[in-house]
Amino acid sequence: MKIQKIAIIGAGTAGLAAAALLAAQGHQICIFEKVSKLEPVGAGLLLQPAGLAVFEHLDILEPALKLGAAVTGLEGRLAGGSLLINSHYRQADEHFYGLGIHRAALCHLLASKVREYPQHVEWCMAHEVQELQESSDGINVIGQSADQAFQSQFDLVLIANGARSHLRPKAWEKFNQAYPWGAKWIIVPECDVLNPQILHQFYDRSNIMMGVMPTGAVPAQPEQRLSSIFWSLPTAELDGFLKTKAAQQQWLLDVSKRWPNAAEWLEHVIPHPDGPQQWLSANYRDVVLSKFGAGRIGILGDAAHAMSPQLGQGANMALLDAWAISQALYQTQNQDTFSQQNLWQHYHQLRLSSVRFYQFFSRLLTPFYQSHHRWTAPLRDYSFRAMYQLSFFRREMAITISGLKTGAFGQMNYADIARKPADDSAAELRNLKFD
Ligand SMILES: Cc1cc2nc3c(=O)[nH]c(=O)nc-3n(C[C@H](O)[C@H](O)[C@H](O)COP(=O)(O)OP(=O)(O)OC[C@H]3O[C@@H](n4cnc5c(N)ncnc54)[C@H](O)[C@@H]3O)c2cc1C
Repeated sequence: MKIQKIAIIGAGTAGLAAAALLAAQGHQICIFEKVSKLEPVGAGLLLQPAGLAVFEHLDILEPALKLGAAVTGLEGRLAGGSLLINSHYRQADEHFYGLGIHRAALCHLLASKVREYPQHVEWCMAHEVQELQESSDGINVIGQSADQAFQSQFDLVLIANGARSHLRPKAWEKFNQAYPWGAKWIIVPECDVLNPQILHQFYDRSNIMMGVMPTGAVPAQPEQRLSSIFWSLPTAELDGFLKTKAAQQQWLLDVSKRWPNAAEWLEHVIPHPDGPQQWLSANYRDVVLSKFGAGRIGILGDAAHAMSPQLGQGANMALLDAWAISQALYQTQNQDTFSQQNLWQHYHQLRLSSVRFYQFFSRLLTPFYQSHHRWTAPLRDYSFRAMYQLSFFRREMAITISGLKTGAFGQMNYADIARKPADDSAAELRNLKFD
């Protein structure tokens, strides 16, 4: 096997997972990250069974379960409390569950795994990559670190620098646009009035949506369990949210008219508007690429397929991409001659149909939850109620949320993803494809 010298740009979920998996195969990895220290800020996120299968493959599921909060399903309530969405992972598979996790915990788990391969991984923190130059004998990574320009050559580059990447080839971009809705979010002590094993969502028409998500704990304070609160808003309204005491009281009143027990809890946990501002803003992008790899360049995570957070799949897809690139490289290396064309063919076989399915579904669903259209909410409420009567639909929704779908009728197998690298044989891997 020829050891590849691989640059990974971005130490987010996709970049760290790919670094750990490729270093475990013996490749020489260099991680370029523009910030000087890994201190992830961001709301908690929900890892779906597909992402947890990658955790099992990485052998970090056990510590993840200690820091995260096991989630058995999603319940979405309309104003007044009636249940619109009642989706549970067991409807897909009796062993499935999700894991609410703080970003700091996710980063800690992945970075600790990467640190198990010190001979294979070089960390280039505070290195902002600005340009890639491909030639027949390698690819140059060019950028800036403090006041110093840097340039190094690699066999392959994996772009994993997030939704706003300027490094992905422009010719591959079919769509790249800021999403008109975002969210305010805040992390608070664990909610004690709602079931702590459920992701709770609350909807009124298509323009009001709130989420309360079990978030587990941060590594520095493992005893303090947390919840994340999300409040969806058009991006133009994010900056003005809850700036005054009167605005906060009005907001609590609006919530309590619809969901009184949640409002009572919120009143105790959300910070006073005159104190340090703790609500933060999240913005999203929609990015669709024609391909995820060619020549010496591959693209992973949000850089490849950023989407609205409606289906809670972004981090899971980043983990699946990392797993898929490691499988594709392993398969290609085990063939008689290494060819980049085969590498990207394998990568696309494992990822393209699944990504296309979630991009399509996320775009289809989003106006039903984040828009000012009058017709979307009645249509959503009527059709979801009717469809949830059918066990076929309940199961399909649960598989979709689990992150394992590859199309209307296809799905990935959890066990194929979770299988540890030591169990892999080249023959088995050659048969693995999900398109
Ligand atoms: C509020 C919110 C809630 C979410 N909830 C969920 C959820 O419940 N479930 C879920 O699965 N997903 C969720 N997501 C999506 C998820 O967070 C992302 O999809 C995922 O983090 C993407 O990981 P990534 O590694 O691709 O990119 P990122 O995490 O964005 O990492 C990119 C990294 O690249 C670095 N970088 C950028 N440019 C450069 C450069 N030029 N040179 C070097 N380094 C660079 C950045 O500093 C960063 O560290 C949510 C997102 C938001 C905003």
